[in-house]
Amino acid sequence: MAIDFSVDAEFQQQIDWVEEFVRQEVEPLDVFVRMGTDANGQPLDRAGSRALRGYIKSLQTRVQEQGLWGFHLGPELGGPGLGQVKLCLLNEILGRTRMGPTVFGCAAPDTGNMELLAHNGTEAQKEKYLKPSMAGELRSAYAMTEPHAGEPGEFRCNAVREGDEWVLNGEKWFVSNAVAADFLIVMAITAPDKPLLERASMFIVETNHPGVEIVRNIHTFGTSNTSMTDDNTQVRRGGHGYIRFTDVRLASDALLGKEGGGFVGSQTRLSGGRIHHAMRAVGVCTKALDMACERALSRRSKGERLADKQMVQADLADSYIQLKQFRLHVLYTAWLIDTTGAYTREIRKEIAAVKITAAKVNHDIIYRTIHLHGSLGMSNETQLGDMWMSAPFMGVMDGSTESHKENLAKLMLREYAPSEDLFPTYHLPKLQAAAQEKFNRVLEEFGAGG
Ligand SMILES: Cc1cc2nc3c(=O)[nH]c(=O)nc-3n(C[C@H](O)[C@H](O)[C@H](O)COP(=O)(O)OP(=O)(O)OC[C@H]3O[C@@H](n4cnc5c(N)ncnc54)[C@H](O)[C@@H]3O)c2cc1C
Repeated sequence: MAIDFSVDAEFQQQIDWVEEFVRQEVEPLDVFVRMGTDANGQPLDRAGSRALRGYIKSLQTRVQEQGLWGFHLGPELGGPGLGQVKLCLLNEILGRTRMGPTVFGCAAPDTGNMELLAHNGTEAQKEKYLKPSMAGELRSAYAMTEPHAGEPGEFRCNAVREGDEWVLNGEKWFVSNAVAADFLIVMAITAPDKPLLERASMFIVETNHPGVEIVRNIHTFGTSNTSMTDDNTQVRRGGHGYIRFTDVRLASDALLGKEGGGFVGSQTRLSGGRIHHAMRAVGVCTKALDMACERALSRRSKGERLADKQMVQADLADSYIQLKQFRLHVLYTAWLIDTTGAYTREIRKEIAAVKITAAKVNHDIIYRTIHLHGSLGMSNETQLGDMWMSAPFMGVMDGSTESHKENLAKLMLREYAPSEDLFPTYHLPKLQAAAQEKFNRVLEEFGAGG
């Protein structure tokens, strides 16, 4: 039995490289992308945006040269195949930044879609969509949530077979990156009368396909439009698409995976995505705690540093403990995935747990950090506003905390059975009667010799 928290020297070198690269290149890029201004303080024009994209490309090339491009992917898909534990250690560095995942070729929603294509795609689909996605040449989005429902049992968007084609109708909502995507992976009901898990199928739908309409692009509060697109217009930047499909006629090879296998197939994507979010949440919270510690040592009140005040110390200690526990749980879950190589029931239980904790830990640690910074914490002169939004995001995206708690409890309860009689198995009178019976024999046996 080996429990080993050390990192091998070779991988430590890669961690050190990522740490330095993120500090030197990605963190300043984050700040600059948010500003998006030229030397005269004017918003970047088309040429400026192109130059910035070229620069990002050059950073991506450096990541590729380091062998870390698409580090979530296995070698069969062109990635380094690091496994989930190493992924955690890198993701928590990238989690400190917004642009890190883009620079390292592991940005959501593309990463999850690549996993879906890898697991469910035909060879032709892999050639056409997966390979260019891995090379960063195609962008994609994942369309599951609907304006009237976030819960699969309520979905209405549907695809009906007509001859050799599928005809897709309905609406999808909050489709991240839809405006910049070349194709969507759409979840649609194909067999409404079947049991829930066989009701839906997934389709690859190109965004320029006739009948696909982006009704509008929604932005979350507290964030700005930071994605760059070729035409460099405000409306096409970042955000989450509200999409309508009207009689979208799809060839039969648009079906991704088995007919009726949509909800089950999507678990690959969602489970992977959830743990990756949790890994990056470790990074966000670490950054918040670093900020809190620096501030506590720098700021004075009533003749002493904030760091010398017991209530501040208690907050720092609580944040530290929450973060350490969360990080270990995320690493343990990653280790379980590496060990079994599949999203088993045991793993889904842990993923649900870390997904729930990610929202809580983000909330608690970032709130304490904002609070410790007083008015500066509430200003737009730190990154705390952006970081704060990660708490409600984590509590809702990829399923609400409540639905994950429901799921977690169900998975936990599978390991238990009800008591067979009126009183629980641990009812003391029952235990006492059993112990008395056992020890009557013990006393007799051990007393016999003496
Ligand atoms: C930043 C961000 C990015 C996203 N990106 C995508 C994307 O790319 N593609 C996509 O398809 N979707 C995306 N979503 C949507 C996301 O998956 C949904 O928001 C999520 O599944 C919840 O669905 P909903 O918003 O419809 O909320 P609802 O399902 O309406 O839930 C709202 C609230 O109802 C309560 N509730 C819900 N279920 C239960 C329950 N079982 N028990 C008790 N209470 C419950 C909870 O308080 C919950 O917060 C994104 C969301 C966010 C915030």
